[in-house]
Amino acid sequence: MERGKVKFVRTPVIFYHKIGYPAQEVKLQNLFVTPENFSRHLRYLCLRNFRTFACREYLENGNRSRAVLITFDDGFRNNYEFAFPLLKKFGFTATIFLVAGDVGKKVAWEESEEQHPEELLTWEQILEMHDYGIEFQSHGLTHRHLEKLSAGELREELKTAKGILEDKLHKKIEFLAYPYGTYNDLVKKIARECGYRAAFTTWRGPGRDRYEIRRMGIKYNHSLIKFIRYVEWGKRKK
Ligand SMILES: [Zn+2]
Repeated sequence: MERGKVKFVRTPVIFYHKIGYPAQEVKLQNLFVTPENFSRHLRYLCLRNFRTFACREYLENGNRSRAVLITFDDGFRNNYEFAFPLLKKFGFTATIFLVAGDVGKKVAWEESEEQHPEELLTWEQILEMHDYGIEFQSHGLTHRHLEKLSAGELREELKTAKGILEDKLHKKIEFLAYPYGTYNDLVKKIARECGYRAAFTTWRGPGRDRYEIRRMGIKYNHSLIKFIRYVEWGKRKK
């Protein structure tokens, strides 16, 4: 297989942000999925005998059917409170992309400036989930728009994040999710140089190579049927 030319067509990759209940004043309601809906998604996967992948398995065996890579961006504390118990209940795993420099803090990057910034996972919670088998990977150091950074700034963002996560988790960090899903050729090049084997965007459809693996975002107002269409056939609507 030619390096970097892998097509990811069959195994769906989905991403969530927050599992919980958005308060009335929340601006980005779509970043939430309620625990009830998340539970319905997992129940469906369970009934249909889906298995969940970790990133490395996905990369090496990404054309399997009846498998799904469940990912979460940012590492919100509600992932521990609401998603983790449900993942355990159904015996599934998932990958959480952490903002390495902001663990244990409140979100400071949301451009929408939510009135009540969401809290992020603590190292204690991360380690507990890690012990269970939840996978943690990199979402950069400070959640910046990577496509706006110089090569030097990119190295700082991506390499430092990798180092922090490797120190805390005692494992190799090899996967990256681009903050905001945005990237350019320089971002891809530096990510590779920093030792990332692949990277995920938030766009849909087939990616050109393993540094632009596409994902489907699961949102607050998505119906169960939309979820099912995507995990079964890779389609979102119609
Ligand atoms: Zn993010």
